[in-house]
Amino acid sequence: MTEMNPFAIAQEQLDEAAEKLGLDAATHELLRWPMREYHVSLPVKMDNGTTKIFKGYRVQYNAARGPTKGGLRWHPEETIDTVRALAAWMTWKTAVVDIPLGGGKGGVTCNPKELSEGEKERLARAYIRAIGPQLGVHRDVPAPDVYTTPQIMAWMMDEYETIVGESHPGMITGKPIAIGGSQGRGDATARGGVYCVREAAKVLNLDLSNASYAIQGFGNAGQFAATLHREILGGGKLLAVSDSRGGVMNAAGLDPEAMVRHKLETGAVKGFPGSEPITNEALLELECDVLYPAALEGMLTEKNSGDVKAKIVCELANGPTTPAADKVLHDKKVYVIPDFLANAGGVTVSYFEQVQNTYNYYWTLEEVYEKLDQRMTTAFHACHEMAMKSKVHNRLAAYMVSVARVAEACKLRGWV
Ligand code: NAD
Repeated sequence: MTEMNPFAIAQEQLDEAAEKLGLDAATHELLRWPMREYHVSLPVKMDNGTTKIFKGYRVQYNAARGPTKGGLRWHPEETIDTVRALAAWMTWKTAVVDIPLGGGKGGVTCNPKELSEGEKERLARAYIRAIGPQLGVHRDVPAPDVYTTPQIMAWMMDEYETIVGESHPGMITGKPIAIGGSQGRGDATARGGVYCVREAAKVLNLDLSNASYAIQGFGNAGQFAATLHREILGGGKLLAVSDSRGGVMNAAGLDPEAMVRHKLETGAVKGFPGSEPITNEALLELECDVLYPAALEGMLTEKNSGDVKAKIVCELANGPTTPAADKVLHDKKVYVIPDFLANAGGVTVSYFEQVQNTYNYYWTLEEVYEKLDQRMTTAFHACHEMAMKSKVHNRLAAYMVSVARVAEACKLRGWV
């Protein structure tokens, strides 16, 4: 079951890093578990007059480096173990980009595709009524994740401010720009990932200006990756994309902008003019230079990773690769940019958003891009150098960088 339980995977990844770092037993044990977690039942009035009870979670994994920070996922298969794993990965993510925050995550088990806008708003407000007292800019700060949006963040901020009777824009990030969101937050996750691909190409001596790429998952992260890959790397051919309803490909290349428009207009990637269908499984095994897993966890496994042909795998999704698959990919010399490094652009700009909210003074888009590039490039090279120096695979190297930073903070506080 280790193969499928994301939290068991997160613990296994930590164990490997702890051993390699020679971490003492108490610190290791402390970092294996969330420091605090909340389980709530959320009654929501549905449009048909009934009341439905949703299960909600918030995990505050580790706050040694600062207030916990992490997204809220609304998904029918959301479980406490998924949230725990995501909260652990947030802890390593804020540490790898060296921002003064800890890691947390939240979620609601629900199917947003079956909820009306009114039901979503009432669910968002119910979540804040239940969890709000545990949130705040100095405590724990949520953000969007799978199937949650800037609009949902706006309702949550409004509910929080209504309860406390004060303005607190920094209590949540990923807000619409008109009410305290940051420039550049929308595409930050994908942008940070593509900056890492650019740096990986440098250390691998690859020219990616005509590289082919494929994207699994075509939501916030995947759609922006489609267009930013070409913009930042100076060209490229988008071979295939997919979403939960299936994928499409075109050996001659898909137009990224038209593909995004099609997805937004029709709600799916399938049926894109001039494309042929491809399954999510076949997409992962395509002959291409860069593969972006941008859907959910557990997609690259021991079974299919041997068939990956990409030179670089940039994990925009959290947890797309199992530990067994990591070893296979490393042996095949596939250059994996591990999730909590590759997708750290999102939390980095969320952190910028919090800083701007606190100052009540806002940066230009160019300032955000420049600061993000600096953070991502520095983080990428710290991990790459660790991998070279310690002769370990990239994920283990990134873990070693992050876990050492979190462990130091725990020790300085006198916790261990
Ligand atoms: P999203 O809800 O905008 O998009 C998710 C996409 O994945 C959708 O297109 C959906 O159809 C697709 N999908 C779902 N199940 C699938 C499956 N089995 N096969 C193929 N596609 C499938 O979510 P997002 O914000 O883009 O997040 C995607 C991943 O990136 C998640 O792992 C998330 O945790 C991670 N991430 C997102 C951010 C961010 O800022 N948005 C930051 C860090 C990490």
